[in-house]
Amino acid sequence: MTTTSRRCFVVGAGGALSLMMVAGSRAAGPQKPLGVALCGLGSLSTNQIAPALQKTRLCKLTGIVTGTPEKARRWQAQYGIPAKNVYDYHTFDRMIDNPDIDVVYVVTPNALHAEHTIKAARAGKHVFCEKPMEISVERCQQMIDECKKAGRKLGVGYRCQFEPHHLEMMRLAREREFGDVKVIEASFGFTAGDPKQWRLRRELSGGGALMDVGVYALQASRYISGEEPIEISAIETKTDPVMFREVDESIVWQMRFPSGRLATCSTTYNANGMGRIRAHAQRGWFALDPAFNYTGIRGERSDGKAIAFPATDHFAVELDAFARSIIDDQPFLAPGEEGLRDVSIMMSIYEAARTGRVVKRG
Ligand code: NAD
Repeated sequence: MTTTSRRCFVVGAGGALSLMMVAGSRAAGPQKPLGVALCGLGSLSTNQIAPALQKTRLCKLTGIVTGTPEKARRWQAQYGIPAKNVYDYHTFDRMIDNPDIDVVYVVTPNALHAEHTIKAARAGKHVFCEKPMEISVERCQQMIDECKKAGRKLGVGYRCQFEPHHLEMMRLAREREFGDVKVIEASFGFTAGDPKQWRLRRELSGGGALMDVGVYALQASRYISGEEPIEISAIETKTDPVMFREVDESIVWQMRFPSGRLATCSTTYNANGMGRIRAHAQRGWFALDPAFNYTGIRGERSDGKAIAFPATDHFAVELDAFARSIIDDQPFLAPGEEGLRDVSIMMSIYEAARTGRVVKRG
């Protein structure tokens, strides 16, 4: 399925609203929520995903995978998780005997996603994996293959694909409300902070700003254009070669799409407040700024109208959509193939930056 047709499948004519209905509908009678085990109890799990799982209608936090017994005790007390649903990274293949857990949500450093996804799939669980999917195309493919072999679904945590402001940006482009989109500008970056964090260690992260947050600008360019890039150029800079010894600090890249549309994107680990999308069409523009924050997304259009929707918990909405796809056995909007595509394009961006040449993609 193409990006555009997958999007239409969920967005339909009514944009965000129909997504909510898809996510909230019932096949036959009340649906017992799917049990979700969080694998990796770091910052994202603690501050975003566990709270979101208190709001989901089709998912419930039933298990955890952690290497820290003290954390396990704290989470058990806070979320009422029984001891039989607590695993560590070495024992979680035993989940195969645990009917309380339907889905494992992998929230560990990027280069551990394949190991944890494959373990979960072999234990008979569906897998929801955080972005970026992994650090190489080969590992992404392995994850897809293992989930297929196990007959389990694999989803990637592309929360913006489920968020109403982003869905509206896609609709405006698709329905050509301002004519054809010709140029897309997208950027996401922040100041990385702690020099000891795994994000700066290539072995665990696979790359720096691009892999971590540049992927949002890439995603936005792809889901607004509805196309895949055929030519990529890029430049990279390191103003702090010590801190960013192993990974990229800042990259600016351009993409040409088959229609002739262009995207110009930026990412950084060394500046704050970068995070917007602006789509320039023949008769005007539409934009989100900030675009990628968990809350407070603001949208504008060149005709003076606002792009405004009630606050949505990005994680609750994407998890319910994933659960719905499992319950109905329907394709998920952001499957493993979508994660692999982005990793493959990011490898082309790195190649373009390294060689200084335009990288052509088929
Ligand atoms: P984090 O460092 O806060 O948490 C990572 C967790 O993995 C920790 O609990 C850590 O103990 C555990 N872990 C297991 N094995 C490890 C090892 N060998 N080395 C280091 N840690 C190990 O990171 P985070 O910010 O929660 O990010 C986790 C994943 O979520 C990453 O893939 C990241 O890209 C993704 N993420 C996504 C979003 C989003 O908006 N979708 C936001 C932040 C992070």
